[in-house]
Order: sequence, then structure tokens, then C-alpha cells
Amino acid sequence: MAKRDYYEILGVAKGSSEDEIKKAYRKLAMKYHPDRNPDDNTAEAKFKEASEAYEILSDAEKRSAYDRMGHAAFDGMGGMGGGQQSGNFQDMFGQFGDIFGDIFSGRGGQGGGQQRQRRGADLRYVMELSLEEAVKGVKKNVTFTAPAACTTCDGKGAKNPNDVQTCGMCKGVGQVRMQQGFFAVNQTCPTCHGRGKTVKNPCNVCHGSGVKDKSRTLEVSIPAGVDNGDRVRLTGEGEAGGAGVQPGDLYVEIVVREHNMFQRDGADLYMEVPVSFTDAALGKEVEIPTLDGRVNLKIPEGTQTGRLFRLRGKGVKPIRTSMTGDLLCRVTIETPVNLTSHQKDLLRELQGSMDNGAQSPNKKSFFDKITEFFS
Ligand SMILES: [Zn+2]
Ligand SMILES: [Zn+2]
Repeated sequence: MAKRDYYEILGVAKGSSEDEIKKAYRKLAMKYHPDRNPDDNTAEAKFKEASEAYEILSDAEKRSAYDRMGHAAFDGMGGMGGGQQSGNFQDMFGQFGDIFGDIFSGRGGQGGGQQRQRRGADLRYVMELSLEEAVKGVKKNVTFTAPAACTTCDGKGAKNPNDVQTCGMCKGVGQVRMQQGFFAVNQTCPTCHGRGKTVKNPCNVCHGSGVKDKSRTLEVSIPAGVDNGDRVRLTGEGEAGGAGVQPGDLYVEIVVREHNMFQRDGADLYMEVPVSFTDAALGKEVEIPTLDGRVNLKIPEGTQTGRLFRLRGKGVKPIRTSMTGDLLCRVTIETPVNLTSHQKDLLRELQGSMDNGAQSPNKKSFFDKITEFFS
């Protein structure tokens, strides 16, 4: 691929001064900087192209080589050819990325120290709930130790509020203008770390940071319907960020303990209902628990094991939907154990009286299939 002329890329004449080349490059770099053109590959290519041209033309030695031989001057340079060059441009890209980062992330221009959104760290607290608590909602206390605003100095970091002074370095702006090569950029003030204020006599409890570890207890309202992995955010209850800085948030993450009867799947609850084989054969109403108390479930005559009965509206109302799910009861037929010899005799008598085809439909069709399979 034919490379464009470096002067052409920067839009300057061949005999341009160093200053003119700088100016031209700066204009292009600002225009095509990736921060200003997110996800724009063309802009990124132009930015790299301009950086490459500038790298050569800003260096007197490279420039004179380029003037004499053109692009051929750098072919196979150091035996690594383009690879090495692109490596250099990557470095350059990264370096300028940092400088531009400060300019373009919304902090420059307006000049205020507050624009830098410094916050304390967010906290995560894992809260274990029973299924009932998760379904119905609950208020619970959480106790944890985290950096909080120092109570001695009220988070200001100073022994005396009058000791808090406007930073002399940045005049309270929180940023200072720095010359980095040919760029003038705004940087966080190194004296006050962006706060815009300095403390003459620091508080001796927090040593001027305005922050001190503290054990706290908060009452957290967990809304009804939460499930595993849901998070409740408590704005501003995270770590304190120091004097003049907003605290982070506290996230309470829900973990629901396993229940000994119900399994939850979204809005529905499942449970197993063991039924004696005689009740299953003769039919019976059995009392079963739900999260709202007991209800009767009618087991019809001749119920087979594994049959699911749906109790509408006896499930869960998840936090993000308005529909309440169902309770699904799976019947398991229990085989009698520990029979006396008299009971066994009764069963044998019962067995003898039965006709497999009519009274055990599943068994009959099973043996029919076996016969079919082997024939
Ligand atoms: Zn303090
Ligand atoms: Zn300052």
C-alpha cells in the first residue's frame, strides 16, 4: 500500500518550520482523537497516520532522511520493518491517550475542581435470607466496618473549621494547567489532590483525611419478591471518600437459603407431596403448606406418582413482575414398609384379586412394550 506523504498528511508545506508542523499535528490530533470519535475506525486511522507523520517530521534527523529518500528511508528500519514502527506508534498513542484523557473526559473547559467525580468506594454486603423473607420482604440490620466521615472533624480533616483554606496552588479550582511538551493540559492539583482546599492544622484523629474506619449498623428494607443475586442499593452508604468528596454506595446482595419444602424457580414454587399408595388409589384430600398457610389439595382416585398439581397464585410475586406464580405439587407415591405378616397377607389377597390389565395400566403397557421389543 502506497503511503501518503507526511507533509501532505499534516497539510503543511515541505519547508514548514517546526512550529508549523507542531500546530498542524496538534489540530489533527485533537480532531481525530479516539476520545472524541469513539468507535470510529477512520478517525483512529487518521490519528495514527498523523502521529506517524509527526514522529518523523518533528525529529530533525528523521525529517532530513525523509526529505532525501522519502518513505524508503524507513523501510526495513532496524530489520523489523513496519512492526517496529507500529510498535512506536502504539506507545505514542498510549502516551497521548493519557494526556487527552484528562482533556476529554469532561473535566477540562469548565475549570471547576468538582467536575472530577471523585467518590468513595462502593461496598458489597452479602445478606442471607430465608425463602419466606425473600418472598415477603423484610427489614434487617447490617453491621459492617468501613471508612466513614471522621466524627471529630465532621469529615473536614481540620482541627478547626477555620483551618480549612483555599488551596494556594490551584486557587481552589482543584486543577492546575501544566505544559506537557506542546500541550497545555489541566491536571488534578498535586497540592490539594483536586479538593481545592488545604488544611493548616490537620485533625489528629483522621490525620487530615476526614475519614476514619467505623462500625456501622444500618436497617435495610428488602422489598418483597427478591431472589438470589438481586442487589439493593443504598446510595451514599458506601465508603466515605474524604474531605469534600462524596461517599460511595452500599450494595446489599441477596442470597436465599435453601428451603426444606419449597424450591423456587422465578415466580413458581415446587414441592413434593408424599402420598400413601392407598390414598393415591382411593383418592383423598391432603393438607399441604403454602407460604400463606395451609390449604387442602385433592388427590383424585387413581393418581400416579410424579403427577403435578398446580395451585394457582400460591407461588411468588417476583420483584420485577406483577404476576404471582403458582405452587406446583409433585405427588410421590409411597411404598409401605415394615409390614406385619398379617398386612402382607392382606396385600397378597388384594394382589390375587386384581387384574393387571385393568388395575395397573402402566405396568400392562410396559410389558406390552417388552413383548413388542423382543418379537
Ligand atoms: Zn478528623
Ligand atoms: Zn490545589
